[in-house]
Parts: sequence; C-alpha cells; structure tokens
Amino acid sequence: MFSTLKTHPADKILALIQLYKDDPRPTKIDLGVGVYKNAEGITPVMRAVKAAEKQLWEQETTKSYVALAGDPAFSDAMFDLVLGNAVARDQVAAAATPGGTGAVRQAFEMIRMANPEARIFVSNPTWPNHLSILKHLEMPVVEYRYFDSESRGVDFEGMLADLGQMKAGDVVLLHGCCHNPTGANLNLTQWQQVIDMLLKTGAMPMIDIAYQGFGDGLEEDAAATRLVASSVPECLIAASCSKNFGVYRERTGILMAVAQDKSLRGLTQGSLNYLNRQNFSFPPDHGARLVTMILNDADLRADWAAELEDVRLSMLGLRQQLADELQRLSGSDRFGFIAQHRGMFSRLGTTPEMVERLRAEHAIYMVGDSRLNIAGLNATTVPILAKAIIDTGI
Ligand code: PMP
Repeated sequence: MFSTLKTHPADKILALIQLYKDDPRPTKIDLGVGVYKNAEGITPVMRAVKAAEKQLWEQETTKSYVALAGDPAFSDAMFDLVLGNAVARDQVAAAATPGGTGAVRQAFEMIRMANPEARIFVSNPTWPNHLSILKHLEMPVVEYRYFDSESRGVDFEGMLADLGQMKAGDVVLLHGCCHNPTGANLNLTQWQQVIDMLLKTGAMPMIDIAYQGFGDGLEEDAAATRLVASSVPECLIAASCSKNFGVYRERTGILMAVAQDKSLRGLTQGSLNYLNRQNFSFPPDHGARLVTMILNDADLRADWAAELEDVRLSMLGLRQQLADELQRLSGSDRFGFIAQHRGMFSRLGTTPEMVERLRAEHAIYMVGDSRLNIAGLNATTVPILAKAIIDTGI
C-alpha cells in the first residue's frame, strides 16, 4: 500500500531552517521562517497569554468537548476584534479552526461545496500554502498581478485589470493586511476600487487576515476587511491568532461567513459545523480560550494590546533603520520601499541567485523569492544586512 504513495516537494522554508541550523558560522542571520522574534531572537509567550494560562489552570474544571464550532464566546470575541461594528452579529456565522491555515482550508472547501466550478483568484505572489491547499483540493486557480517588481509596491492597474476577468461564482482571495510574502498593501481608496469591481463582476471575496496588529495598528489593520464585509453581499474571512497573540503552536483561528441576507446564517453556520465535523470534529480549545479570556478582560486586553503595539513599533523601527542604512550606503532612495511595506515581511525583489549569494557569502538566510522576515533582525544585524545587500550588488 504505502509504496504507491508519491513523494511531495519539501517545504522550502522548512528546508531553509535545516540549512540554517547546520551552518557553523557564528554570524549567521535567519530572516527565513515566519515567526516573530524579539531583539534577542526569541519568540516569547506574551504576558497576557501567560497570565490567562495561569487563571485557566486554576479555574478550568473539565476538558470535555466544547462544540463543533468551538466556544461561542470565542466567535463573539473574534467577531468584535476583526469586524468591529462593520456588520451585525446576526449576519455572521463562525467556527473555530486549527489555526488560520485550518480556516483557509475550510473556506476553500466551503466554496467548493457551494460551487464546484468556482475559480479562485490569487495574488501573484501569495502565501505558498494557499496554492498548495488549492492544488490538493484540485480547485481552479487564476493568478492576478500584484507585486510590481520595479517599485516593489502593488501593481494596482494590473491587479484591477486581472480582477476584471472575474465572474459571478468566482472568488478572489485577498490578504486583509500585511501581505505575505511581499509586505506591499493596498490603500483604502484602492480597496474601494476592488470592492467596486467585486460588485460589478458578482465575484465573492475571501479575506485571509493573519497579521492584525502587525501593520498600522489593530483597528487600522482591520479597516479593509471591515470595508469589504460591509459593502458586498457575501464574504468569507479566515483569521489567525498565531501571530498577534503569539500562540502559534496552539492552533487558533476562525472562519467567518458574512452575508447581508441574514436568512442565510443558518445555512452557513450548518456548513461550517459540518466541515469541522468531517475534518477533525471539535477544533482545538486551549488557544481559543486564552484569546477569549484576554479579549474579554479589560486588564488582560490592555496589556496584550500594549505588548502587540511594542512588537509592531519595533518592526517599524527596524524597517526604517534598514531603509536609512541602505540609503546611506547606496546613495539612492531605491530601498525606500522597505519602510513603506507593512507587517513582518518585505520582498526585496531580487533574484534567487542573489539570495543564494547572501546565504553562501554572508550567512544571511532568506526565502528564495527574496522575502525577508524583518523580525529576524535587530539593531546590530541591520547594518550587517545592509552592507551585504550592497556588497552583493542587489
Ligand atoms: N495566512 C497567511 C497569509 C499566513 O502568513 C499565515 C501564517 N504563516 C496563515 C494564514 C496561517 O497561520 P496559522 O495556521 O499558523 O495560524
């Protein structure tokens, strides 16, 4: 039986982690893997998470099953965090999922159940897992232009032209904020133009929001998602708590289905429950419970928001430092985009050969598409990276 299995391509980022581990050079810098790291290179447990865990340990009296869609209090808290008052609570069906990846997977499956013909429009580039899950599910994918390799911003004209090819029954996957892997994002005027295109074509948006609080702030990062949700007849939102609560391994995420027509809620909630049931039954509870406790307790919430804000500002500071240093060394503004990008990543926009040279000659590790994790830097390593970039001739 097993001998008939096919081998699968190794995950490029995981392969990079191994290469990094095996590299004996003491000066090596890891800008590959997508987790937040502080200046000491540590991915800390956030203070509010620790405090909530302590409370939970003292108060939790059972580990019995919760519900197919997870704890309704988690759905309510995440509805508030992501959607604010953009739509009414009774317009939204929601189910907890194993991480944001679980939410993305369930969203695709829900789309396929509703319309097996649906084409999924994805940005070029997008998070590689989007593509690999869609391939696994054998769903048709259409790429839309996104990254402008000249300006390192969004090729908005190209994007809009490609989205003009959508039709009713199609879905466009949009990153709610902090685009992964490029760091280049739309402004709200451009989001409005995308919404106009959705209304014109009748296609449905699916928003993946995995970095709320990492870009311009908790509210600011949710603004586009809220604008879309309040403007279109229907949308899906896959949200991850992995980064903004630092609960990566707890697998905490949620899928929300928003419809202007409230009578659809029973149907969408039933479908979300059904999908959870078929794929894993009950979603993980621990991380979701911590998130709920934090969001519903004024003190824990304030402390969490303050720590998240520190994380956000530290990444912005590193962006600015890197852009300044590159300007100084290159005598040009061509790296200004690094300060403009938002979130944990920036795509340098150089070739795989240059990325390989950075690794071989300078022990600097980034993903082959030249995505660098800003949080992998600190004040000491920024000048080292900047010099390596200039020395390599990027
Ligand atoms: N979407 C995007 C765009 C991401 O970058 C990530 C994290 N790498 C996720 C979803 C989901 O992450 P997780 O499953 O760890 O919550």
